[in-house]
Amino acid sequence: MDKYKVSILTGVNETKIYELNKREPIGKEVLVKVDCCAICTLEQRVYDGVRKLYPFAGGHEIAGTVEKLGEDVKNIKIGDKVAVRTLNTCGECYYCRSGNENQCVVSYKSTIHEGFLGPGGFAEYVMVNAKSIYKVADDVDLKHAALTEPLACCIHSVNQADINLGDDVVVVGVGIMGALHIQLSKLKGARVIACEIDDSRLEVAKKMGADVVINSTDMNNVISEINKLTDNRGADVVFCTVPSTQVASDCIKITGKLGRAIMYTSFHPDNPVEVSVNHIHSSEMVITGAVSPKNVDFLTATKLISNKSIDLSHLITSTEKLCNIDEAYKKALSPTAYRIIVESAK
Ligand SMILES: [Zn+2]
Ligand SMILES: [Zn+2]
Repeated sequence: MDKYKVSILTGVNETKIYELNKREPIGKEVLVKVDCCAICTLEQRVYDGVRKLYPFAGGHEIAGTVEKLGEDVKNIKIGDKVAVRTLNTCGECYYCRSGNENQCVVSYKSTIHEGFLGPGGFAEYVMVNAKSIYKVADDVDLKHAALTEPLACCIHSVNQADINLGDDVVVVGVGIMGALHIQLSKLKGARVIACEIDDSRLEVAKKMGADVVINSTDMNNVISEINKLTDNRGADVVFCTVPSTQVASDCIKITGKLGRAIMYTSFHPDNPVEVSVNHIHSSEMVITGAVSPKNVDFLTATKLISNKSIDLSHLITSTEKLCNIDEAYKKALSPTAYRIIVESAK
């Protein structure tokens, strides 16, 4: 029987390649040859031992080529280039039925390789249900298609912000998520002000199209710059992409009347912050969050990537082969890295 390779996280700073049996897809299943899979935060935390989920089949930012189809698959062809959505939702709960499946009460990451928990994108092949497959244009670089999931998360966040033409949008933090928020806000017609403590990341912000960049080491400076830029109104929209509750509190301070403050990231540690509810009352500002994309956000992400409306080239720091995945994890853990892509090609 044909075999395929899969990389499994087996301990702190430890991975192993396993060989599993390849099988034929049945029903709605699709066999995808993985070309690229990006390393996200979850896999980094398992690799460095912050989350000890061993053994774990990591890799949920998957792009590849359709190799074989089950007999009931109708809308996908062999040879299609695709992004794979690995977050499954139940379709039965209140939130799924009200069109908010990102809030599904039983959402889970599929187990793709027999015997191993996890989304399993660091492998030569994945077998997935057709509903998890999103086609991209034939001329798309699959390294870019591997960033569909992070882009979809940011699309959901930007949709929460309800940006109008000419709005002043502040993006705090220019990691990959901040960089994507900058580009998406520009597509929505905003003036984008990027804040970041690292000057090299402010250079990335400029490449992403930010109109104004501010070094945010001194938050008082940020507040006075934003007041200057907005005639003391404050920002229409602020995205917090930095996992610090102090920064979250500052984001609320720079949001103006009728403004929207979006807590994009999760916060560690989750220290409570003080807010003036009277200020919320009188300013009618909205403080909200964004967690996981809906299916439509994933679809929109594949459209933006297929149409080349988003520039992902600056956000891929390097590419490693599956057999060198330890090297890829080490690079991903560097604070200067954006995305590291693992290529599965033989
Ligand atoms: Zn991810
Ligand atoms: Zn559900």
